[in-house]
Amino acid sequence: MIEQKNEENYDVIVVGSGAAGIIAAIVAAREGKKVLLLEKLSKIASKLKATGGGRCNLTNTLSNEDFMARFGREGRFMQDALKAFDNKSLVTFMDEIGVETHAPDGFRIFPTSHSSATIIAGLQQEMIRLGVSLTCNQRATRLLATGNHIDGIKTQTDIFYAPNVIIATGGLGYPVLGAEGDGYNLASEVGHKVTELSPAMMPLKTKETWTKQCKADTLAKVELRVNLKKHKKLRAIGDLIFTNSGIRGPVVLDFAREVTPLLKKYGEVPLLLNLTKGKNEEQIREHFKKELAKEEISTVLQLLRTLLPQALCLELCRLGDIEADIKYKKLGGKKRDKLISLLAWTPLTISGHDGFKMAMITRGGISLKEINPKTMQSKIMDGLYFCGEIMNLDGPCGGYNLQWSFASGYLAGKLLKLA
Ligand SMILES: Cc1cc2nc3c(=O)[nH]c(=O)nc-3n(C[C@H](O)[C@H](O)[C@H](O)COP(=O)(O)OP(=O)(O)OC[C@H]3O[C@@H](n4cnc5c(N)ncnc54)[C@H](O)[C@@H]3O)c2cc1C
Repeated sequence: MIEQKNEENYDVIVVGSGAAGIIAAIVAAREGKKVLLLEKLSKIASKLKATGGGRCNLTNTLSNEDFMARFGREGRFMQDALKAFDNKSLVTFMDEIGVETHAPDGFRIFPTSHSSATIIAGLQQEMIRLGVSLTCNQRATRLLATGNHIDGIKTQTDIFYAPNVIIATGGLGYPVLGAEGDGYNLASEVGHKVTELSPAMMPLKTKETWTKQCKADTLAKVELRVNLKKHKKLRAIGDLIFTNSGIRGPVVLDFAREVTPLLKKYGEVPLLLNLTKGKNEEQIREHFKKELAKEEISTVLQLLRTLLPQALCLELCRLGDIEADIKYKKLGGKKRDKLISLLAWTPLTISGHDGFKMAMITRGGISLKEINPKTMQSKIMDGLYFCGEIMNLDGPCGGYNLQWSFASGYLAGKLLKLA
């Protein structure tokens, strides 16, 4: 293919038109810079469009301290970016570009239109207003540098020059939406370290096949625990849905971040599930006592139905080798104990997942040690900046990852250079 040297020089080239790249381009242009935004797909913001099931949960109402805590050990890296651009700044920014937002449950913030398309239209309009040059179908393939200074970027067909390049190419999850890990290669070619990458936030597969009989119902407040001696502290609570091949739902998406590294290490991960909204064995016994006092409740199934959907009750009976239609009072002591223990802690074994194909987030990324948190600039290469999911930071479900993308993109777009 013939390479074309682009005669036009830019102040900054942003690679990747996700949440992070677009806001970086807007902020740089607002600072008076001449900006080129490169996107390898034919359209901008494909992943942003798919967020929140098309509704885009763009941030949440947490304080910066609580927000950072939910990202684990690395969370404090975000301090400066959040100070510069927190949830309130994001809501104000959205308002400025004509996107009204609200928090229907008091926590998660969405556009009031309930459509990510509104956000994309607002961002696109702002880029047009500011004169950002946007080029789609341009895949960046190599960073150009002289010594430790950035000179520009090479794409599959062109060469573009600028003293500043912002890499916002995302992670590895949902590759159909554009993120295929190109940015990791671009960065590692100039000396950046990429930490181990694992898929996170995705449905999980189980060894047990009974889940397929129970797939119709969403169960609220299910507690999941890892049943491995060294990892007993790993637990999560939330809504869970059984599937043909395992489990999904908000609690599973969040817990997958913890489970994938263990799966790599142990091959399988045993879990214990409390399906009874946190009732322990004693509380289940008490509950049974009360229910059995009612005339209409006498069989095991009738009793279990007071806690769980029918399909799940039948599966638990099967697991405990207990007849569902038998009168509970006729059940022997051992069988009663078994049933109650199954209700308090149902065993399930995680055996796999669909990998990055279905992962909403990538765990791992460009090592934070080599990025200045006050500017998002590389400590290795002058004029090189990073923002968004490409960095080694990942948060749970609930607007965390987009807020981080917007905040880091905002800071990168400022193109601050500290001595
Ligand atoms: C289905 C789904 C739903 C989600 N829902 C939510 C949610 O509701 N709330 C939330 O906070 N988070 C959500 N997330 C996570 C969130 O979307 C991401 O963390 C965030 O969008 C990352 O933004 P980014 O700008 O860093 O990367 P991306 O949005 O992935 O953008 C990267 C862009 O770079 C382009 N690119 C890649 N390589 C090159 C290259 N070599 N040259 C040029 N361009 C390139 C890609 O095509 C892409 O457009 C969801 C994720 C998925 C997959």
